[in-house]
Amino acid sequence: DLGSDVEVTADVADDIDEDDLLGGLRIDSTEEIQVPDRLVDQVIGQEHARDVVIKAAKQRRHVMMIGSPGTGKSMLAKAMAELLPKEELQDVLVYHNPDDGNNPKVRTVPAGKGEQIVEAHKEEARKRNQMRSFLMWIIIAIVLGYSLIIAGQILLGILAAGIIYLAFRYGSRGSDAMIPNLIVNNADETAAPFEDATGAHAGALLGDVRHDPFQSGGMETPSHDRVEPGAIHKANKGVLFIDEINTLDIRSQQHLMTAIQEGEFSITGQSERSSGAMVQTEPVPTDFIMIAAGNLDAMENMHPALRSRIKGYGYEVYMDDTIEDTPEMRRKYVRFVAQEVEKDGRLPDFSAEAIEEVILEARRRAGRKGHLTLELRNLGGLVRVSGDIARGQDAEMVTRDHVLQAKGRSRSIEQQLADDYIERRKDYELQVAEGYQVGRVNGLAVMGEDSGIMLPVMAEVTPSQGPGEVIATGQLKEMAQEAVDNVSAIIKKFSDENISEKDIHIQFVQAGQGGVDGDSASITVATAVISALEGVGVDQSLAMTGSLSVRGDVLPVGGVTHKIEAAAKTGCDKVIIPAANMQDVMIEDEYREMVEIIPVSHISEVLDIALEGEPEKDSLVARLKSITGSALSQENKV
Ligand code: ADP
Repeated sequence: DLGSDVEVTADVADDIDEDDLLGGLRIDSTEEIQVPDRLVDQVIGQEHARDVVIKAAKQRRHVMMIGSPGTGKSMLAKAMAELLPKEELQDVLVYHNPDDGNNPKVRTVPAGKGEQIVEAHKEEARKRNQMRSFLMWIIIAIVLGYSLIIAGQILLGILAAGIIYLAFRYGSRGSDAMIPNLIVNNADETAAPFEDATGAHAGALLGDVRHDPFQSGGMETPSHDRVEPGAIHKANKGVLFIDEINTLDIRSQQHLMTAIQEGEFSITGQSERSSGAMVQTEPVPTDFIMIAAGNLDAMENMHPALRSRIKGYGYEVYMDDTIEDTPEMRRKYVRFVAQEVEKDGRLPDFSAEAIEEVILEARRRAGRKGHLTLELRNLGGLVRVSGDIARGQDAEMVTRDHVLQAKGRSRSIEQQLADDYIERRKDYELQVAEGYQVGRVNGLAVMGEDSGIMLPVMAEVTPSQGPGEVIATGQLKEMAQEAVDNVSAIIKKFSDENISEKDIHIQFVQAGQGGVDGDSASITVATAVISALEGVGVDQSLAMTGSLSVRGDVLPVGGVTHKIEAAAKTGCDKVIIPAANMQDVMIEDEYREMVEIIPVSHISEVLDIALEGEPEKDSLVARLKSITGSALSQENKV
């Protein structure tokens, strides 16, 4: 289950320390790591997909790959092309059809033969032209001589010579038409073709016939010479890879299906009003293996017949996003760094410490305890940026420091936005990270996939005219509204105040682009409301995230690592997170010293930590404990 079967060859310690970031490899740099020749052996993880690709290459089956971007789908498709026999490769020639100029003939020959045939035709045409020129000049000389000597007519002679010259020029066009058009040439290929048709328009996918502006009058390019192959033709005997398959228009998906079914597909002009649309070749072979890729969404939106075609005659695989973090796997990640260095070709080697830092990042990005991320395109980006920084400094080797700098630079758009956002809000003094305030709690949210932001929640309680209501303002998404409802159930249970006579206003301060991510704000909302109801201040040097059950249990949420980092960046020195999330915390060292992480399992613990002043707080916490005691006593059993 390690992805590539090929073991990492380098000095491995006999007695491997489980925690060694390099998995026991005793190396100074990536220079000592050997990169396997075959692409299929370079694939990290994705064992299932890799097995399928190897099997499908043998059986010539189509494959559907579903998964996150940058996990190796196109890499595996390329690897499959390497596994296909190159002996079967073919060249394809298109010939003029003397019977019907708009229906060029198609001939398929073994790879390498195509060029020879074209050369032979050219040679023949050259000879014929030489012969013609020779003949032409002889005749012109005779005519000129005759006109001068016999008739004494210079003008007539020149006119006649001109007509003869044009007649020959014209005639030689006919012999050009005899040279076939080599549309698929595999003469110099060392492996079966790999064609990436992601986002290709109809012409690029299915082939096209160029428009001829001079359709008559002897200036035209013969139709067979205007024929251009599509990816389906170039992929013959190889692999056709199409990512985001659902974005292909339906007509193209239908044609693709025909090409798969028939194993051949005529080329015609794709734009209706072009002269190319009149031309249609004989069928051109399209015997490719298709690898269609996309995310889960893609599968739903793809042409059902095409999908069932692939399913019925091939395999469907799901790509993994993460893989278990074992010493053996970490050795593969060491090799991954070496692979990316080799692939780029210009980067210096990575020192052992630099590699360790990349592996730490792989851990962090996995967002799951005991796992490493398999979104390796992005991790490869970190390797390249680190290498570029080192190169910029003329360093001989990439050091840990270069990688740390690169982490700062290779931030996603969301991260950059979030940082900008934090900065701007600091300007407006919307962030409070010290003192106590009634009804205000620092919540935490995630923007995009990988950036945390601090999102204060404010609550206010006012006497109600009619029956009490919970009113939420700010950009609340439906999920957040639900969280508010959930919270109000707990508050109603425990509060002395007659809540039915009060309106509770809840505001997410500047919820901004990201909005509020649902449930994860519910302990924040509860704390803010309770603080407002009881008039007790909340510690502003504290931030929190956690979901709340109706019984007061604090349940796990997503993105804790990014949230903790956001709290640290904003200047908070304590963060409350659900105890169940402790295993997901993978914050960087620099933040570890900045904030204290406090795990909690019940809302009473949250209040105990967050609220100001001993006596009021104690009575509040005691009340809450007694009311939701069942949850607590269960807690004690664990
Ligand atoms: P996808 O097609 O899934 O979007 P790619 O195959 O294009 O991703 O991956 C981009 C690059 O990231 C690859 O060329 C390779 O350098 C690296 N990469 C991605 N997945 C893997 C993997 N499983 N093993 C090794 N390298 C990988």
